[in-house]
Amino acid sequence: MEKKKILVLGSTGSIGQQTLDVVRQNLDLFELEGISCNDNIELIEQQAQEFGIKKVAIANKKRLDKNRSGWYWGDEGIEEMIENSSAELVVIAISGAKSLLPTLRAIGKGKNIALASKEVMVLAGELVNQKIKERGVKLFPIDSEHSAIWQALRSGKSEEIEKIILTCSGGPFRNLDQGDFEKITVEQALNHPNWSMGRRITIDCATLMNKGLEFIEAKWLFDLKDEQIQVVIHPQSLIHSAIQFQDGSIMAQIGDKDMRVAIQYALTYPDRVKNSLNRISWWDGLKMDFEKPNFDKFPCLGYAMEASRVGGTMSVVLNAADEVAVRMFLEKKIKFTDIPKIVEKVMAKHRAIKNPSLNQILEVDVWARGEAEIRQ
Ligand code: MG
Repeated sequence: MEKKKILVLGSTGSIGQQTLDVVRQNLDLFELEGISCNDNIELIEQQAQEFGIKKVAIANKKRLDKNRSGWYWGDEGIEEMIENSSAELVVIAISGAKSLLPTLRAIGKGKNIALASKEVMVLAGELVNQKIKERGVKLFPIDSEHSAIWQALRSGKSEEIEKIILTCSGGPFRNLDQGDFEKITVEQALNHPNWSMGRRITIDCATLMNKGLEFIEAKWLFDLKDEQIQVVIHPQSLIHSAIQFQDGSIMAQIGDKDMRVAIQYALTYPDRVKNSLNRISWWDGLKMDFEKPNFDKFPCLGYAMEASRVGGTMSVVLNAADEVAVRMFLEKKIKFTDIPKIVEKVMAKHRAIKNPSLNQILEVDVWARGEAEIRQ
């Protein structure tokens, strides 16, 4: 069987490294044609060497090294690598809004997309869906919740979905008194109970903004109405999400908390292949609890649902303001409780543009970042 050629954008991040691990375990199935990163040259060089990868792109132009022939530099370098690629699948694991342009470029080149970066659908869900349709390519979700829904969808048709149950661990501060939220430190917020992830997404999990972004992502990925998405707090994260079909049957995807399961499925789809990852043990006091989300303690979730309801560019503003606020929190310039305040204030200043063009999306993104900076 011929190997599936893939590009991994964002190969040095958490998802990128786990993607390479999936490839490492399945060298008979996949060939890495190219990889990209922001500026972790040391790690990407190791990766290129280990897998014999010919194409390497570095987003940060300041690291330009003319002696490295065949390497691509800058954001335009990443797009050039996509342009020159013969891969059939592109894994998008770039952190933040920078994931959008390479995704659109890959779709334009007729490549299937394995999507880890939720910002792509949050910023431009409508536009991306339209381009996918035009080019006749497929989009495979990697985000664990969306992978779960996608897997559950194999037991029914899209039009038979009554609602989806988007599960959420509740983050590390689920049981913390609201009065203590002001004192939350960066170190405490970076300590997620269940999943190992990048820094921004870990903070987003602590504010529940991550679930809010996933709400919007799910809406576009599965063509749902807002009222068809129910967020359920499930601290054990055993159920990664579920679909309730119109006959009342619920199909849930359950498994160990390891992103490599979702990554592997997106890479091997429509097949499932063996792996040696952990299995759930049913005799270890397995428990499943469920709670309603607390919107007072976690206002970011409510703001995201509001952005989804308003539609258009409001979700661009939500994401940009949050990205900036989280960065400032990580730099210890603002308090944990300032994150939702900044998001709310920037959203309040914006009037959403319906069916935005790519340029409008990018302009609003820049505007919202500027507003968030001065909101501290
Ligand atoms: Mg997720």
